[in-house]
Amino acid sequence: MTMKVYFTGAGPGDPELLTVRARRLLSECKCCVYAGSLVSPEVIGLIPSDAEVHDSAGMSLGQILAVCKDARGRDVDVVRLHTGDPAIYGAIGEQMAGLDGLGIEYEVVPGVSSFQAAAAALKTELTVPGISQTIILTRSAGRTPMPESQELDRLAQAGATLCIFLSVHGIEKVATILSSHYGKEAPAAVVYRASWPDEIIIRGTLDDIARKVGEAGIKKTAMIIVGNAPARPGTASKLYDSTFTHGYRKGKKA
Ligand code: SAH
Repeated sequence: MTMKVYFTGAGPGDPELLTVRARRLLSECKCCVYAGSLVSPEVIGLIPSDAEVHDSAGMSLGQILAVCKDARGRDVDVVRLHTGDPAIYGAIGEQMAGLDGLGIEYEVVPGVSSFQAAAAALKTELTVPGISQTIILTRSAGRTPMPESQELDRLAQAGATLCIFLSVHGIEKVATILSSHYGKEAPAAVVYRASWPDEIIIRGTLDDIARKVGEAGIKKTAMIIVGNAPARPGTASKLYDSTFTHGYRKGKKA
């Protein structure tokens, strides 16, 4: 069998949210490249201790490809671990193009994305008949600019449920833009490190979410979920609670 690179979803954090396939690949792995700060130590702990591991945080695309090339020389598979699902903000396209150039085969193993883990933490449904039948996964511009037709102001016009990645540092601006479409009282939630032991859930409205997130000191690794679907009738009062959850399996309210 020829050597392969497996672009593997590490899921949102909790090792129990790995797929069975990801778990098997990690436990059999001889060479792994992963982003150190974003993948849970418990997930990394599944890799055999004698395996070669590389933290992609300080690596260029060329260096990642060099690891794959070297592994091919030894006929060793590579697990390229990505947080959540590899197809979402994972920059796998450029890595695949590089592997194509080298003639190295690859496969993708999907993972539970952080927007799904955040919805689970909130115990909410992202699609509710009559309110929202569409989920938009988006982000605000960072070093990667947003195509003009996909700016938040444009996307908001559909009134869909929004799951916003990579943007909690700019929550104030996000909330201001969205307020003019969804209304100030529209439900907004932020989940910091969904499914990790130090997960934090902040519920609010577009009017107060930025203040609450600021007070909690959350600046990264958080999902913003906005829309009227997540606020089902009868759950409205909970939207004003800030709930702090600890522990992988059972959330305890502090
Ligand atoms: N491929 C990943 C996303 C990578 S981009 C996925 O499918 O989830 C990194 C962004 O994902 C972070 O800025 C944050 O918005 C979100 N994210 C990743 N892990 C998270 C987690 N455990 N909880 C909340 N948001 C998370």
